Amino acid sequence: MRITVVGTGYVGLVSGACLADVGNDVLCLDVDPAKIQTLQQGGIPIHEPGLPELVRRNVEAGRLRFTTDVEAAARYGTVQFIAVGTPPDEDGSADLQYVLAAARNIGRYMDGYRVVVDKSTVPVGTADKVRATIAEELAARGAAIDYSVVSNPEFLKEGAAVEDFMRPDRIIIGADDERAIDCMRELYAPFQRNHARQLVMDVRSAELAKYAANAMLATRISFMNELANLAETLGADIEQVRQGIGSDPRIGWHFLYAGCGYGGSCFPKDVKALVRTGREHGHELGLLAAVEAINRRQKLRVVDKVVRRFGEDLRGRHFALWGLAFKPETDDMREAPSRVVLEELFARGATVAAYDPAASREARRIFGQETRLGCVERPMQAIEGADALIVLTEWKEFRSPDFERIRAQMRQPVVFDGRNIYEPAVMRRYGIEYFGIGRRCRA
Ligand code: NAD
Repeated sequence: MRITVVGTGYVGLVSGACLADVGNDVLCLDVDPAKIQTLQQGGIPIHEPGLPELVRRNVEAGRLRFTTDVEAAARYGTVQFIAVGTPPDEDGSADLQYVLAAARNIGRYMDGYRVVVDKSTVPVGTADKVRATIAEELAARGAAIDYSVVSNPEFLKEGAAVEDFMRPDRIIIGADDERAIDCMRELYAPFQRNHARQLVMDVRSAELAKYAANAMLATRISFMNELANLAETLGADIEQVRQGIGSDPRIGWHFLYAGCGYGGSCFPKDVKALVRTGREHGHELGLLAAVEAINRRQKLRVVDKVVRRFGEDLRGRHFALWGLAFKPETDDMREAPSRVVLEELFARGATVAAYDPAASREARRIFGQETRLGCVERPMQAIEGADALIVLTEWKEFRSPDFERIRAQMRQPVVFDGRNIYEPAVMRRYGIEYFGIGRRCRA
């Protein structure tokens, strides 16, 4: 099949490369010329395991190409995936300007039947807006061309995006015409040879299903964070509570970790957008508003602990920070807890040496001229002379560090563990003063 993917971010680039890998001819469009230039020169603008090899293989095979030419892109694929960003607007609702701009370009230049697929996470009713936008463009040039609009929300996880796209646990196809449904079934057949399920449903349910999934996962996290804070007060240990409830199959183990809050490009914005959608339609989604508020507070939890230990005035204090990305295996720092923690530490006069296996470049871009931040190349470099180590992302390489060396090289052996990756008893054995989230340790 000939496919156009509009937007070459985390979702668009991964989708395009995976679709090419099963034999489709794919043209990826982006309005960011620097991104397209990087891709055309063989570079990959994001960190995603397995993606560089996948892109290289398909570019070499001639199945994957990149362009900034909107006209060529609209004329190319019978299937047009829209995978552009939907960032939060000022009021928390999803900003649809990029989705509708993509739709406008498709309508302006398409020259035959198109299946236009909303892959971006978009509020209920967006497919109708995409349909209307294309209709307007066609009417403006007096063209009568048939097209379908499909909602096909994406469930891949950053850090495992290629694997998730290649082996999805479900594929949601929201459509109401058979021609589009057949086309999508054929397109996705190679990705579900074993047990993945194609769920065909109406467009609005598909749009809502994506928000429901993210809202549910965010709720589990905020639930655990709320309980962790209570556990601290009560002298209980959230890790043991987690074991006690995760073993119940009705609850399960996933997304049951207390920590320094969720971040990323999806949960925060999608929870906000769903609350906003509810409000617009007269439904106050109190549960989700609380999920959001708890998360905002939780990002400050580590700073509260630092302040309780070192005082409000952190001038002259120097901290080692491990983990800038919002989660392991990505360079994405959108809404990452590290951003809030860094800003709070800087505001109180502290300096920070930060290490992240993938996100240092992104941190330099975000914090630009901030002289209080130094990004270092190795975890132990950050430790040198620090008053405390703060861990904010659970990268595998942080799990079993040389604690003897950490104790020896720091000004004082203090660890704030925002992801509960260390055991309080082990830390005590190494003579390290340890602060977890909801753990039975000094807080
Ligand atoms: P991103 O910001 O990484 O990428 C979006 C890309 O779209 C950018 O490169 C931008 O330049 C480009 N773009 C914007 N307007 C354009 C236009 N008119 N034409 C062509 N290109 C255009 O975003 P992302 O993380 O890939 O997310 C995309 C969508 O997918 C969002 O709605 C997001 O909520 C959803 N989603 C993201 C993830 C994830 O893990 N990142 C997972 C599932 C769903």
